[in-house]
Amino acid sequence: MSRLIVISNRVQAPQPGTGGGAQGGLAVALNAALAEEDGIWFGWSGDTSDNRELRFQTYGGVTSAVMDLSEQDVEEYYDGYANRTLWPLFHYRLDLTEFERDFQGGYERVNRVFGERIGPHIEPDDLVWVHDYHMIPLGWVLRQQGITNRIGFFLHIPWPPRRLLTALPDHRRLVEALFAYDVVGFQNEEWLDSFFNYVKEEMDGTVDGNNVTVGGRTICAISCPIGIEAKDFIAGAAGPVARAAQLNQLESAVGRSLIVGVDRLDYSKGLPERFAGYERFLQNHPDRRALVYLLQIAPPSRTAVQTYRDIRNNLEQMSGRINGAYADTDWVPIRYVNKGYPREVLAGIYRAARIGLVTPLRDGMNLVAKEYVAAQDPRDPGVLILSRFAGAAQQLSVGALMINPYSAEDIADGIDKALRMPRAERIDRWQAMIENVVEEDVIWWRKRFIDALSAETQ
Ligand code: UDP
Repeated sequence: MSRLIVISNRVQAPQPGTGGGAQGGLAVALNAALAEEDGIWFGWSGDTSDNRELRFQTYGGVTSAVMDLSEQDVEEYYDGYANRTLWPLFHYRLDLTEFERDFQGGYERVNRVFGERIGPHIEPDDLVWVHDYHMIPLGWVLRQQGITNRIGFFLHIPWPPRRLLTALPDHRRLVEALFAYDVVGFQNEEWLDSFFNYVKEEMDGTVDGNNVTVGGRTICAISCPIGIEAKDFIAGAAGPVARAAQLNQLESAVGRSLIVGVDRLDYSKGLPERFAGYERFLQNHPDRRALVYLLQIAPPSRTAVQTYRDIRNNLEQMSGRINGAYADTDWVPIRYVNKGYPREVLAGIYRAARIGLVTPLRDGMNLVAKEYVAAQDPRDPGVLILSRFAGAAQQLSVGALMINPYSAEDIADGIDKALRMPRAERIDRWQAMIENVVEEDVIWWRKRFIDALSAETQ
């Protein structure tokens, strides 16, 4: 029987003591497959040391194997090339992209060590699935060791347009590494098209349907949008934890309409632009000011990187200024919360919210948008306001109010329209979206990718 081997920067296998309750959809979907197929999940332990041994553990039916990285590895590979070079560049932020040779060196070194450690544990029939921008060269390292298994790669973030990507020194080397895989998956057609375009223009390659050929090597590149654990999320949104969070929010709203935003504190999420759009709404509609409030949940992330500290300072100033300018003795326009909540609590907050405000400047998918839809009460659903630049736009534009997140006016108009929207229209729009969220859930995503990876080559 063929096993599934998953390789990603961080391993999200079940851990003793957590009960598995805090896992995201991706972790749940992959762990289910790993448990069924006796697979292994490889990655970084999250710890720093000079010990390069893999540590195996089996818990909850899933085997994981993790390795420590040195401090220099973390600086160059994780904080450096992954999060200061590839992340901003792939999110179209050339202005924030840092190019350092040491970063690239560290990235390739860590991928080599991972590949060399993992290689001996791969058996002939295993399917190997590598995840995300931290690990692009990993398949290539495995091939160097003579591994001929089917190996797939899925990119969770956008793939940038060719003209942006060519700003990366050694861009071609990075893209060539993708040709070590048999299947490469992207979140949507737009990123897939950008990849095709790069291959044609920069590598003299050819594209025939999903088959991409460069110099005699053909791989399969597909669009494969990730989903959420929809059925569980829907059930959770009506469960006791969510219900308590919903009631708590409704009580503190005292009849006002809640607008909710939930995002990791990241410059790709368009948070300053969102605050500016909300402020524009307050300016344009003085009569409706005290009838709404914005709850922005934004747990900090990647705090070792300066641009992340900058965005945090910027948002603190903006929320302070807006609250100072518009608040009254019994009302503040923005509740800005810098900590994370369990998903069941979020589900209740989503359900209490008349508007889900999801305005990334660029996002591979954006699962919060899908979770907001899944959490709604079918009899009285809220309105999703969604950036046209989120990967989720391709699936959810059927029912969301689509906006341009760079335009404060567009956001303000969207909020106004959503608040005025009659219930019948809210239900119609929600129904169009929920069908997609349920149909194309995270299990659908996993199956779609694994089917492509298992398919025999011609
Ligand atoms: N999330 C959470 N608690 C929080 C904030 C976010 O559990 O306080 C979860 C959220 O429910 C979603 C995920 O983090 O499942 C964020 O995924 P998304 O695709 O929206 O953005 P990413 O952080 O991956 O860029």
